[in-house]
Amino acid sequence: MASGASAGPQSQTILVVGGGIAGVSAALEAAEAGQDVILIEREATLGGRVTKFNRYFPKLCHPTCGLEINYQRLRKNGRVRVMTMSEVTALSGARGAYKVSIQRHPRFVNERCTACGECAKATQTMVANPYNYGLDQVKAAYLPHEHAYPMRYVVAPEAIAAGEGEKLKAACAYGALDPDDKGETFDLTVGAIVWATGWKPYDPNNLDVYSYAHSKDIVTNVEMERLSAHDGPTHGKIVRPSNGEPAKKVALIQCAGSRDMNHLPYCSRICCLGSLKHAAYVREQYADAEVHIYYIDIRAHDKLEAFYNRIRSDNQVTFIKSKPAHIRIGDDGRPVLHGERTVERELYAEPYDLVVLATGMQPSAVTGFSPKIDIETDEYGFLVANVKDEGGIFSAGVASGPLDVSMSVQSATAAALKAVQAVRNF
Ligand SMILES: Cc1cc2nc3c(=O)[nH]c(=O)nc-3n(C[C@H](O)[C@H](O)[C@H](O)COP(=O)(O)OP(=O)(O)OC[C@H]3O[C@@H](n4cnc5c(N)ncnc54)[C@H](O)[C@@H]3O)c2cc1C
Repeated sequence: MASGASAGPQSQTILVVGGGIAGVSAALEAAEAGQDVILIEREATLGGRVTKFNRYFPKLCHPTCGLEINYQRLRKNGRVRVMTMSEVTALSGARGAYKVSIQRHPRFVNERCTACGECAKATQTMVANPYNYGLDQVKAAYLPHEHAYPMRYVVAPEAIAAGEGEKLKAACAYGALDPDDKGETFDLTVGAIVWATGWKPYDPNNLDVYSYAHSKDIVTNVEMERLSAHDGPTHGKIVRPSNGEPAKKVALIQCAGSRDMNHLPYCSRICCLGSLKHAAYVREQYADAEVHIYYIDIRAHDKLEAFYNRIRSDNQVTFIKSKPAHIRIGDDGRPVLHGERTVERELYAEPYDLVVLATGMQPSAVTGFSPKIDIETDEYGFLVANVKDEGGIFSAGVASGPLDVSMSVQSATAAALKAVQAVRNF
């Protein structure tokens, strides 16, 4: 019991920060156990990074399946209040009575939206498509993606700045367009908090030796997910972004910045499996494709070893023990990997159609504000699982460390149950 707890909690509501697979799972578990839950998400839709994947390892099924089941649970559960485009700007208090300030950013589209798309037809402004990591452009009035939750358009501030607000409003027959939306800030009192803010990809521009900025044919692992997806910038065709030609000779570079004291000193646990999945994507598309995986050592945890063995059994996927030293751009415009094969002790200079950098996962835990209470992180910025034994803040998913989806969901369930106990056993 927390000290001074006899008066009971001021609130038994649980706040979940971050609406990725972990946050959505935590919110549902707590709500289905009978608590009121507020789920806030910074982006325009729920689902987090998972929504941007082409498929899930190990079964290579579409991530929408798992997410849609959760969205149905959300639709049926009146206890979860979902707030998108919102983030925490201040936090103080203690278990049973956390004071939280929330900022909602303007979406310029309200809940009357039917996703008819007339606003998109009306706008001339184009913006970098956030769903495709900016690999293509989208109309500035857009549906975040075809399975968005909520299924509601969003207008980018660029369209309002371009003076298109009234035109968009006139195009909407449902009164859903609000060019004067200024967002809002408001305060909440909640009894416990699940922090599920997930991760961001390590910035490949920090890896000078891999020339990311010098060739469109050098992409990151998260961009590879979009290049392979039917609703991605190339409609699922794995091609060289520089010229649209099929990418049939592909290099996957493991630990691009990971396990490196100059970048991310830790292993992100998932990248090897992500690259095995990428090898499968390429091989499914091209019978004559060659995939080379450059690795320090392959880490396929638990039962995912079977997935590794499955990809390894493909004769057209070659595993090369080596950390490439650098990438130069060849005379024909293709990226050329330079390095030494560690086992054979042979130097190589190998050209590829496409190079994929397996960059790691960095925590996006507490950003943009300074909490007035101690939120403990480890040396890399991941949240310590149960922040304080006596407290009511719990971490879930990758906010607590690199995890795959099933582990993220397990940690979310654990966090939800701890949060329920924190407000009930006061
Ligand atoms: C290349 C790659 C491929 C992968 N493929 C697979 C796979 O096939 N199978 C698998 O099991 N795992 C895979 N993973 C791992 C998977 O991405 C994670 O397990 C999963 O994203 C964890 O979900 P999460 O909810 O913890 O975090 P996220 O998906 O990052 O979600 C966090 C959410 O919190 C929101 N947020 C962040 N900060 C704030 C804030 N301050 N306020 C409000 N909201 C905020 C974000 O916008 C986001 O929606 C892969 C990882 C990589 C790098």
